[in-house]
Amino acid sequence: MTRVGIVGGGQLGMMLAEAGARIGIECVTLDPAPDSPASRLAPSIVAGYEDEAALAELASASDVVTYEFENVPVASARFLAERVAVLPPPESLEFAQDRLLEKTLFEEVGLTVAPYAPVSSTEDLGEAIDLVGFPSILKMRRLGYDGKGQARLERPDQASDAWREVGEVPSILEALVPFDRELSILGARGRDGEAVFYPLVENVHRDGILRTSIPASSVMPALRSKAEELALAVMVRLGHVGVLAIELFETEEGLLGNEMAPRVHNSGHWTIEGAATSQFENHLRAVTGIGLGPTTRTAYSAMVNLIGSEPPDDAFPGGPGVHVHRYGKHARPGRKLGHVTVVEDDADTFFRVLREVTRTADNT
Ligand code: AMP
Repeated sequence: MTRVGIVGGGQLGMMLAEAGARIGIECVTLDPAPDSPASRLAPSIVAGYEDEAALAELASASDVVTYEFENVPVASARFLAERVAVLPPPESLEFAQDRLLEKTLFEEVGLTVAPYAPVSSTEDLGEAIDLVGFPSILKMRRLGYDGKGQARLERPDQASDAWREVGEVPSILEALVPFDRELSILGARGRDGEAVFYPLVENVHRDGILRTSIPASSVMPALRSKAEELALAVMVRLGHVGVLAIELFETEEGLLGNEMAPRVHNSGHWTIEGAATSQFENHLRAVTGIGLGPTTRTAYSAMVNLIGSEPPDDAFPGGPGVHVHRYGKHARPGRKLGHVTVVEDDADTFFRVLREVTRTADNT
């Protein structure tokens, strides 16, 4: 049986292990928490991400190692890569960990980004404001997620507060984009270079955290093929193998690249029930070198995150089209504790059930 090591044992690791069990792939995770979500489903090595003995143990227990979060220390990925195949390659991590490298990569393959300037000091920030203008967002180059490590700027007198807010670390100032919609493109690329893409997904965020993802129905074919072409170019440039997600802004002028994740992504959770092959299965197929599965949407589908608190099962509408996933995490404000997928063949039923699920998720 093929064994896949996963650095990180959060909900993404848990859902990878679930998908693996269905196709005869055994997963083993590495996570510092003894009660990580994935540890309920897969053997877990409990240790820090820089613990060389634990990394060596993960390498020897695995035919290939992957990861479920992008802030895996690159040195650890390289340590693993000396012992076992690491996919996606450490280069994908390097680019995804630094917003400046990421933007440079997007521009290199022809994916436009919002006007930006790097900032390393308060003086830089003044110059960046001259270039980028207002309104704008100052973002930490590294380690930001779910809108953390970001400060919005509307006026010059907010500059020093914003610089303090991001922790006075290397950052970028980025123009605030008046987007029509936020979209994401998710695809998987196999070891043989074959790539498949899921339908574009429309994402709604609240307080910087993803709330709802719906495979976008009203996407022009030209927009979809453009997004696929750009995502493929990013994958090829990185030598990427596995799932890659790119968050995009749809504007009047076309698509802008926001950021990428070299891993399975929250905006692809609907694929578990709503696509012919889930993103988790396709990620495992890609990194183990078996053929990728079809990515077609099988019904109207959507995903609603459960953030901060979890309603009980009986609070959600019943029926075969509602799937509640719980990650077994302790509740904390702003924490993703689970998600619900709505899958229906009929459009009217789909929108009605989705409204009910969203209301239930909101009222807790
Ligand atoms: P990020 O961490 O870069 O994904 O940002 C989190 C969320 O903040 C995004 O999903 C957007 O809703 C919003 N956001 C980030 N950057 C911009 C931007 N340049 N213009 C408008 N909204 C943005």
